[in-house]
Amino acid sequence: MTRKFNFYAGPATLPLPVLEQIRDEFVDYKGMGLSLVETSHRSKVYDGIHHQAMALVHELLGVPDNYKVLFLQGGATLQFAMVPLNLLGKGEHCDFTVSGRWAQKAYDDTAKLGSVQVLFDGAEDHYTSLPDPVSLKVSPGSAYLHLTSNETIGGIQWQQWPDTGAVPIVADMSSDILSRRIPVEKFGLIYAGSQKNLAPAGATVVIIRDDLLEKSQDNLPVYLSYKIHAQKDSMYNTPPVFVVYALKLVLEWVKSVGGIEEMERRADERANAIYDVIDTYPDFYHSPVARKDRSKMNVVFRLPSEDLEKRFVAETEAANMLGLKGHRSVGGCRASLYNSMPVEGAHALADFMKAFVGKYG
Ligand SMILES: *Cc1c(COP(=O)(O)O)cnc(C)c1O
Repeated sequence: MTRKFNFYAGPATLPLPVLEQIRDEFVDYKGMGLSLVETSHRSKVYDGIHHQAMALVHELLGVPDNYKVLFLQGGATLQFAMVPLNLLGKGEHCDFTVSGRWAQKAYDDTAKLGSVQVLFDGAEDHYTSLPDPVSLKVSPGSAYLHLTSNETIGGIQWQQWPDTGAVPIVADMSSDILSRRIPVEKFGLIYAGSQKNLAPAGATVVIIRDDLLEKSQDNLPVYLSYKIHAQKDSMYNTPPVFVVYALKLVLEWVKSVGGIEEMERRADERANAIYDVIDTYPDFYHSPVARKDRSKMNVVFRLPSEDLEKRFVAETEAANMLGLKGHRSVGGCRASLYNSMPVEGAHALADFMKAFVGKYG
């Protein structure tokens, strides 16, 4: 089999050794005579996997002891509602930075449930830049500040974090979690859908500071309560057994290749390879985003015409590089370069881009 380079924005590529291990263990898990996906989530075997995966999230991300790691379902999308349901008390308000499509969606659900103050809205420049984190000031009495660390569609990424004092930062890190070191202690809550940087689709990782768990009201429906999930170690109901298992294998792989430092090094190498080509041929390739806010996970770029963009996508597919069409809302091209994308994939794309200029430039 020719394994193609998968530049899709998500679900994303996974490490080949992980896929192979899943294949080898799938039908008969470690000689149990059963597949893991047929096994009770209350079994010792699953319990071990579940807690190892949690411990690896703690270890690899450097999560302090006063935080809980939760494995939930409903994607990052359910967090758009769970965050305000749990963290926005009666009469309170929160602050938002609306930096693109995902922040907008989080904002929309939050505004249905409570009062929101928008500190920054990137609409005017079509969501191609982020606010200066140093001058961003939270409003008095704010319950939290929500930001989206990487805008998957727009291709912009926070490089520094605002100083919010005692106001917790809540971050949607769905598309850049574990790709760089982050000061977890600066955040009150971090959430990420699994299908970009962590695992197949089907789980959401939530990292929440212990004191914020106390804000969950007792009248919430059970599934929506962080406090209940934390009390039950994310086993209140059936967890996404297969995804947690795959997540554990991905995290073991990350650890075996050098941990988060190596993920960061690879992310830099991949993104630099593509941006270098864009910057070398400014009459042909164009990045619409502010240079200081360029995403290392989703590189968005335009070609001189839509015809050439179509041709580019078709020819990359013929060269075994998939998923380079930009999001329908912004057009153009997009290369998603998540943790499991081999650096060779980015170099192959960069070489292709140079040759493409030679042919059509
Ligand atoms: C993909 C994505 C989401 C949506 O995740 P689901 O798991 O599909 O709900 C939310 N936020 C960001 C930043 C994303 O990249």
